[in-house]
Amino acid sequence: MKEKENSACGCGCCCHESTHEHTSPVGWRAYIAPLVSFLLLIVGLVGQHWVEHPQIRLAWYILAYLPVGLPVLKESWESIREGEYFSEFILMSIATIGAFIIGEYPEGVAVMLFYTIGELLQDKAVDRATRHIRELLDVRPEQATVIRGEQRIVLHPSEVQKDEIIEVKPGERIALDGILASPHVSLDTAALTGESLPKELTEGAEVLAGMIVLDNVIRVRVSRPYADSALSRILSMVQEATERKAPAELFIRHFARVYTPIVTLLATLIIALPFLYSWFVPSFTYIWQDWLYRGLVFLVISCPCALVISIPLGYFGGIGAASRQGILCKGGNYLDLLSKIDTIVFDKTGTLTKGQFSVRHICPAAGITSDQLLHTIASVERFSVHPIAKAIVNTTDVDQLSPVDNITEKGGFGLIATIAGKQVMVGKAQLLEMEGIAVDHEDTATTHVHCAMDGRYMGYIALEDTLKEDASDALQRLRQWGLSLHLLSGDRTSTVAQLASRLGIRHFLGDLLPADKVNHLTQLQQSSSRCVAFVGDGMNDAPVLALSHVGIAMGGLGTDVAIEAADVVIQTDQLAKIPAAIAIGRKTRQIIWQNIILAFGIKIVILLLSTAGYASLWAAVFADVGVALLAILNAVSIQYRIKI
Ligand code: ADP
Ligand code: MG
Repeated sequence: MKEKENSACGCGCCCHESTHEHTSPVGWRAYIAPLVSFLLLIVGLVGQHWVEHPQIRLAWYILAYLPVGLPVLKESWESIREGEYFSEFILMSIATIGAFIIGEYPEGVAVMLFYTIGELLQDKAVDRATRHIRELLDVRPEQATVIRGEQRIVLHPSEVQKDEIIEVKPGERIALDGILASPHVSLDTAALTGESLPKELTEGAEVLAGMIVLDNVIRVRVSRPYADSALSRILSMVQEATERKAPAELFIRHFARVYTPIVTLLATLIIALPFLYSWFVPSFTYIWQDWLYRGLVFLVISCPCALVISIPLGYFGGIGAASRQGILCKGGNYLDLLSKIDTIVFDKTGTLTKGQFSVRHICPAAGITSDQLLHTIASVERFSVHPIAKAIVNTTDVDQLSPVDNITEKGGFGLIATIAGKQVMVGKAQLLEMEGIAVDHEDTATTHVHCAMDGRYMGYIALEDTLKEDASDALQRLRQWGLSLHLLSGDRTSTVAQLASRLGIRHFLGDLLPADKVNHLTQLQQSSSRCVAFVGDGMNDAPVLALSHVGIAMGGLGTDVAIEAADVVIQTDQLAKIPAAIAIGRKTRQIIWQNIILAFGIKIVILLLSTAGYASLWAAVFADVGVALLAILNAVSIQYRIKI
């Protein structure tokens, strides 16, 4: 199952496992400590023949040690206080203090210095990736519909004043914090609270920017300017992306808990066993400094710095590479899952097709004119963000439309509202048929929007959509990779069948209600050990996006609710980005395993050498730093090595 875990409190910032505040950029100040320490170390090494006095030498290296060592010592102290006795910090603290005890001051300083530099490099890479993610989030134009007098004006939320009234349609994100001025609404608050159940609110309740409207068209009295409203959401999203741990990363954390006590024990044995041996074999002279040195070297080498640094970095490289392609990946674990996908389920409208409908013909029922039908449907569709709605409204003069009240959108069905006291239904055939209204069916490959007023059928409008240009190429590529492709749509089966045959998709289903999509996806996921991705855009896709192993949403055309529910967002709406995302996932996984194997391999070799007395502390330090640097380079290079 997928990991949608948040931190325990849901605030997204209580991550004890991460030692860094990954959202604040690395400033020049961060370089001062390692620089001071480096200079002191170099001067100490060069000038050690001039100063013979042992106390001065010791004091000098302590001075060099503190700038880089103190933060690690502090971290160790905190981990002890939290009851974690075996962290990499403690390992390094013991090893370096030990190096001082046996008089190997420069080595002690060097371990800490190189570790700090490695961490700095990592932070820089993380910063870059975070900046990419943030830029992607900013790309999506935010807008708010403000009611001024009788007019609706669409503005950027920053242009809306406090106490103004904004209108929000179903499926849309509320752009500004405010007070609900409509009788009732159901909201998706998952982005802010992590709570997945919809929240029901009544008039006068506080609503926050980032919440998504699920059912009615509502009005909100703005209580806070944009700058104060939107920021929290963006920050929490970036933070979530940076903190969601991928399995390989979790594996290392768990591993460290077993690994650290074992190496500590082994180091103790390296020091103690020869001593015991010398008791029984008097000819063996035990030089305690020698064995202490070997034990400490063993400890320093076993520091899993390279691993600890390179694994999260690998995922960041992947997330950064994806961001450059306009693919927003909400966490490292989804990169992992992307690489394992074997089944992709597509939605039709807005996903495989452009969602740019054009009206083919208007078919009014007897006694109704085309104008009446179009006018009624457009008046209601004005309150929907569905691509069909936009197409219909564009064919009419918005100022001439009738006033409409009590608008409710049933995702994947259509809308119900009242015009001049009469109930109007606009949407797919099933919406009307559920109320016992008979509708005309015509067997063509067009999409139909039916309409009824006060239980009387008024006719339908037939629309046609166009296929995305890159659809067949992208699907062809996925098929070549051996992925099984499916199409699930809420549109009429005849329309869906035609499109499926054009694209060569063998498994397809049409006329699905939103709940049917959920059922079919669940069946697919249960039927075998498949890893299923769902690609969608609409309001009715949100549950399936959340349910699938990897939910992929179209970021340009997609409704906010779909984008929120998804794990991966394709900002450009291009289908070609799906194989691209999978390629990035696979590459990331490959690089991370390369790093794990490299780090372990070299570690084991040096450990054996040091126990046999062939590796000095310097060799150990350089091995660890070398591996860490290689791993970092390997991880950072993901962005340059992906060819799409
Ligand atoms: P798909 O599953 O192919 O992406 P949608 O989920 O967008 O299709 O919609 C399924 C069907 O529901 C549409 O074909 C349309 O008939 C109907 N529908 C959904 N929303 C609306 C709306 N706002 N106005 C009219 N019809 C709608
Ligand atoms: Mg759709």
